[in-house]
Amino acid sequence: MSVSFDIQERELTAEEIEELQREVRRLAKEKNAVILAHYYQRPEVQDIADFVGDSLELSRKAANTDADIIVFCGVRFMCETAKILSPQKKVLHPNPESGCPMADMVTAEQVRKLREKHPSAEFVAYINTTADVKAEVDVCVTSANAPRIIKKLDAEKIVFLPDQALGQWVAKQVPEKEFVIWKGFCPPHFEFTAREVMKLKEKYPDAKVAVHPECHPRVIEIADFVGSTSQIIKYATSVEAERVIVITEVGLKYTLQKKNPDKEYIFPESMNYCGTVYCCTMKGITLPKLYETIKNEINEVELPDEIIERARRPIERMLELS
Ligand code: SF4
Repeated sequence: MSVSFDIQERELTAEEIEELQREVRRLAKEKNAVILAHYYQRPEVQDIADFVGDSLELSRKAANTDADIIVFCGVRFMCETAKILSPQKKVLHPNPESGCPMADMVTAEQVRKLREKHPSAEFVAYINTTADVKAEVDVCVTSANAPRIIKKLDAEKIVFLPDQALGQWVAKQVPEKEFVIWKGFCPPHFEFTAREVMKLKEKYPDAKVAVHPECHPRVIEIADFVGSTSQIIKYATSVEAERVIVITEVGLKYTLQKKNPDKEYIFPESMNYCGTVYCCTMKGITLPKLYETIKNEINEVELPDEIIERARRPIERMLELS
């Protein structure tokens, strides 16, 4: 099978989707490749992944896989994390242009300068950072384990980067420590307003509200539950309410419906574009791109050995502490 330019650009028919999916699975088997996909990926990509998960779950899979090739359907920093944890493996990224805007909001040089200002602090990086930045910090965290890990650190002062919303949410849960928080943010989550949430609450007064900690603090304040993607899945599929308003990336709706179809999950997706939590870069991974990547073994993720060496320490420390 060969994929034309035309199929790369237009919406696929159900038959084309099925054919591409079959081919991708066949190639994955033939090449001993494992396909990892984040929950924010398109449904047709999630459906053929060996594992679908959040950053922490996928990091663990990348660290422990026996496969020769890891095809990572997510954004660039996730592929870099997989390469750092499995440097001997070939890691392929189906769309090298899919980066995370938040991860690009802080550089290694800025972290080094901050170190000079706060020499006694422990530097904590959200997993959503570049490999260069990870190489400069003491420990990484995800939204699932950040408060637990930071509580265990010896330092009284924490420099947290790059997400200000997550940083503020964690700081509230660890009041015994002093926080210096970088001003980065996730555009799709942070720009969703509390006003929009209130409108949804008025429309669905019986619904519970679950939000991701990358959301704006004012949105977090009015939520019934705040947690990482995997924690939202557990809450939304088991809470005693028929409806749950979920303020995170719309891709998660597919997983929730599969896990518990008896509940109604309300995502702010039917409103205008600005009222939707939609990550364009995550959706930059398409089935034709995935197919081309695995078939031709292109888009390999490469990092300097020295960065792999230094960036591995904070990630492994996270995996140990969590
Ligand atoms: S949802 Fe936000 S944090 Fe996640 S990849 Fe997209 S921009 Fe980055």
